[in-house]
Amino acid sequence: MRIVIVGGVAGGMSTATRLRRLDETATITVIERSGHVSYANCGLPYFVGGVIEDEDDLLLQTPERLFDRFRLDVRVDSEVIGIDATNHEVTTRSTCDGQTEPIGYDRLVLSPGAVPVRPPIPGFDRARVLRTVEDAERLAADVTGAPATAVVIGAGFIGLETAENLARQSIAVTVVEAADGVLTALDPELAILIAAELTAHGIAVETGVAVSEVTTGGIVLADGRPIPGELVVGAIGVRPDVALAEMAGLALGAHGGIAVDAFNRTSDHDIYAVGDAVEKEDWVGGGNSLIALANIANRQGRRVADHICGLPTAGSSSLGTAIVKVFDLAAASTGWNERRLQAEGRRYRVIHSHPMSHAGYYPGAQPLSLKLLFDPVDGTILGAQAVGKEGVDKRIDVIATAMTGGITADGLADLELAYSPPFSSAKDPVNMLGYMAENVRTGACDVVEFGELAGLTEAGWTLIDVRTNEEHDRGSIPGSQNLPLDRLRDEVVAGEGPVVVYCESASEGTPRRPSCTNSGSRLATSMAATARGWRLTPPMSRIRFGSSINRCRSSLWTSLHHCARTEHG
Ligand SMILES: Cc1cc2nc3c(=O)[nH]c(=O)nc-3n(C[C@H](O)[C@H](O)[C@H](O)COP(=O)(O)OP(=O)(O)OC[C@H]3O[C@@H](n4cnc5c(N)ncnc54)[C@H](O)[C@@H]3O)c2cc1C
Repeated sequence: MRIVIVGGVAGGMSTATRLRRLDETATITVIERSGHVSYANCGLPYFVGGVIEDEDDLLLQTPERLFDRFRLDVRVDSEVIGIDATNHEVTTRSTCDGQTEPIGYDRLVLSPGAVPVRPPIPGFDRARVLRTVEDAERLAADVTGAPATAVVIGAGFIGLETAENLARQSIAVTVVEAADGVLTALDPELAILIAAELTAHGIAVETGVAVSEVTTGGIVLADGRPIPGELVVGAIGVRPDVALAEMAGLALGAHGGIAVDAFNRTSDHDIYAVGDAVEKEDWVGGGNSLIALANIANRQGRRVADHICGLPTAGSSSLGTAIVKVFDLAAASTGWNERRLQAEGRRYRVIHSHPMSHAGYYPGAQPLSLKLLFDPVDGTILGAQAVGKEGVDKRIDVIATAMTGGITADGLADLELAYSPPFSSAKDPVNMLGYMAENVRTGACDVVEFGELAGLTEAGWTLIDVRTNEEHDRGSIPGSQNLPLDRLRDEVVAGEGPVVVYCESASEGTPRRPSCTNSGSRLATSMAATARGWRLTPPMSRIRFGSSINRCRSSLWTSLHHCARTEHG
């Protein structure tokens, strides 16, 4: 069998090597436009920043090594410029000398990836983008010229990684983001922690304002302010590279990616497509989404090879599980965020929690901010987000795995997770989210929806901080009264009216509810506490991101709704 693969990186090379492992006799040809094959595009920002010092470390394979080991015919500096689907033939063109060549195929696999979005902003041509090793080389060469200032347009994953790595090179960096906050994969109350981390490391952050022009000395914002930038990087996002697919008359999906079936076959059954170029079945929504992530491209490549070789394969949907390092913090998410659930009109509930990354009594524990979104009726987990210095990846990966396995939000309570004090707590933060979800779903504690609290306090509800006097004195949620947990049972008395309680980290609210209720209060509402969440919301962010102040505060109020059992571990 003759198999031609277009694109020699994540999806393409996974297909090629898996094919060879399954079929020793197939003729496998990989056509790659850039000068490198199987390169680590995810490592490109770190090469620019000097974290990865040697460019060769980005090059995971060479055509020669791939021939020696897998007998793959890998042609770099060569692009596919046409597909004759009727005659099962592609036309390749050398990017060095322009020579063209037809290559016949029995099966064609497209893995051309995604192209950086280049908006029609005057002067944007000057902006560097990051897609290939050559792009990284150009940017690294610019950095070698020791520019004093840089502007990164776009505060998504690649934009933030690039900004951090430019800052590592002692460049004064400004990140400009048209959306209201950075890292819109996260909801604002978590994203603001990332914005604060950027500013704490000297990066200026401009959100809620677009770039109107790229000039020779920097950029001009839509509000007229100039921002200096000897170096300008465009990281506005990517769109599926569908040039070849369109040329071949293949069907595209509603989002502009290549439409594929459960086996990644396109509308031409002898042509497969994988990776960033294709639309994926969305795990949460059931429809299709554009998700550009390396894990998915690799998975799909392997599955396509299996299908071509006649192995039984099942399609899999995509969660969009992603993580990014921003200086000392990690931010990760899976599934949908609250913004998207709201926009799509989905039924959901929210839990926030601010546990420590491992047992608090063992040195080095770091606060985590976790958010879980789930369907309150059937418990389906719809999404999760995490920000912190330690243990972020583990928690999001566990939740993503639970989602894939169909484990509900309550089911997180019963996950048996590895524990010893340096790593976690006997009740892992993921277990705690499960307890909280269970309490919400069973009605074991009453909860208040987002934005309700201000109205409740106006209506006479009392906000009680159940931490110790010392903790309360060190800082509390404005308007709260301090009534330490051990005194709450006796001192919330009949006739005092409804109360809302909060503690340090969403772990001590629930046990009070029965006692409060029994005491004859009109209605006692127990809420998990987030005094830690309040402190974690950086004051600087509250000032700098004026439009987000309410959201920060609101998120705190939101997290007050959610209950947990007292933790011992
Ligand atoms: C800077 C950067 C950082 C990233 N970081 C992460 C990360 O941390 N985590 C993560 O999950 N994902 C990350 N990604 C995304 C990840 O790299 C992609 O999701 C993944 O590589 C997609 O694989 P793919 O095979 O679809 O496309 P790609 O890996 O992009 O490969 C497509 C290849 O096809 C070639 N090509 C296109 N058209 C033709 C043609 N006509 N003829 C020949 N060749 C062609 C291109 O030159 C390209 O090399 C990052 C991407 C970038 C650019």
